[in-house]
Amino acid sequence: ARHHQLPNPHPSPTPSPSRTQEEQSQNSKKPGYFAMDSEGSAVLHRNLQHQFLRLTHGSKSRLFLEDGRSIIDASGGAAVACIGHGDARVRDAMAAQLDKVSYCSTMFYTTDVYEQLCKQLIQSTHGQMSKVLIVSSGSEAMEAAMKLARQYFLEKPDSEPKRVNFIARHLSYHGTTLGSLSMGGHVFRRAKFEPMLLKNISRVSPCFAYRGQGQDENDEAYVARLAEELDKEFQRLGPETVCAFVAEPVVGAALGCVPSVPGYFKAMKQVCEKHGALLILDEVMCGMGRTGTLHAWQQEDVVPDIQTMGKCLGGGYQPIAGVLVNHKVIDALSQGSGAFVHGHTYQGHPVACAAALEVQKIISQDHLLENVREMGKLLSEGLIRRLSSHPNVGNIRGRGLFWGIEFVSEQSTKKSFPNKAGVAMGIAELGLTESYGIAVYPGTGTVDGISGDHVIVSPPYNTTADEIEEIVGTIERLVNDYFKEKK
Ligand code: PLP
Repeated sequence: ARHHQLPNPHPSPTPSPSRTQEEQSQNSKKPGYFAMDSEGSAVLHRNLQHQFLRLTHGSKSRLFLEDGRSIIDASGGAAVACIGHGDARVRDAMAAQLDKVSYCSTMFYTTDVYEQLCKQLIQSTHGQMSKVLIVSSGSEAMEAAMKLARQYFLEKPDSEPKRVNFIARHLSYHGTTLGSLSMGGHVFRRAKFEPMLLKNISRVSPCFAYRGQGQDENDEAYVARLAEELDKEFQRLGPETVCAFVAEPVVGAALGCVPSVPGYFKAMKQVCEKHGALLILDEVMCGMGRTGTLHAWQQEDVVPDIQTMGKCLGGGYQPIAGVLVNHKVIDALSQGSGAFVHGHTYQGHPVACAAALEVQKIISQDHLLENVREMGKLLSEGLIRRLSSHPNVGNIRGRGLFWGIEFVSEQSTKKSFPNKAGVAMGIAELGLTESYGIAVYPGTGTVDGISGDHVIVSPPYNTTADEIEEIVGTIERLVNDYFKEKK
């Protein structure tokens, strides 16, 4: 069957299935024709020219395909499946919630499960945060964070209505809706929509030691330089016009698991405080345990004013994301208008909350954060030992069970491959073939020439030493074979 074939990295238009006009007109009258057509699909897939692998089921770290093959899921999609696939405890928690309340509008109602999840999330910040909004995706969480920041400045006792700007970072990704896309500095993802994007967002350099730190520049000097750049951007915009600085504690999809150097976030927060602006941390990808602490900022010696979370909140069992908001912002709103002017049909969805609550319970009960730290050490050591001398591996970096391998055409100059070479996608696709049977998550350069191709390795938190060995060994073989074939 055609859907067993792999997506083609350099696709030519898929030839339309040959049918007579009569057949076509007859078939088009049948309801559901395209859905049943083995040659085509009614899904608006991400790529209209690729064929997609059809999954039958998942269990723990494995995904199973229609042809009986299995794949070790070394990335959990985009670092989502944090407790693996098919956990019956989450299914049971969701089913139990369905028997209670399957849906309610948050305009009039709340549920035990929504209250419990948010209470637990606040407790996980040791009271640093005040309240939580639960939404359905990371992009929604980022949109809400932006609007909360704006409403804070409007409603605080000494209202500052001039604050409308945001400072984000280059080579970043914060979501795909127009507001969150505007925040991101991912050139390729923005390009087609540029004229529709918000104009009140500017960007400074990310903290990216591999490419941004001078050879003779120590961490302290690098941080000081980045803090000065941020300060200058505040000055350029007029500090009284800036709502917030927005960054990911460990950069995920845009750069491939890049942590900042020590002291960076502390210095950035100081600049924000100097200018009375908020710090918004996007933990949609790196948060909820992925880096070894429940919140990535817990390793940075800072507390954000607003924090978004997503993927590992519900581990993929339901679409769920959230925004954690500190006391300062909540107090301004409660003493101001008394309401956040924002609402989604599916916010605080009870079944999604039940799934997330159970996933978080499993992380805690099964001591999975400890396992993230232990297995993360094995993973990083294994990747570095087996891959760092490969001439096309430029840098291996990450934290916890969140590791990125960046590929270069030349190690000494750090020259990346041109975007059109599709190196990261090519490696990910080769990985899915029978010889390897591994899923890694690809990301291709945000700007040609700067920041190249990477793949993300982010296995579930309950992975084992044997699985790590399998993952590292398979990736080594995959990378060796991919570049050998390219020669
Ligand atoms: N922020 C970050 C850091 C992300 O990695 C993503 C998604 O990859 C988003 C926001 C958007 O999340 P979603 O795809 O759930 O809308």
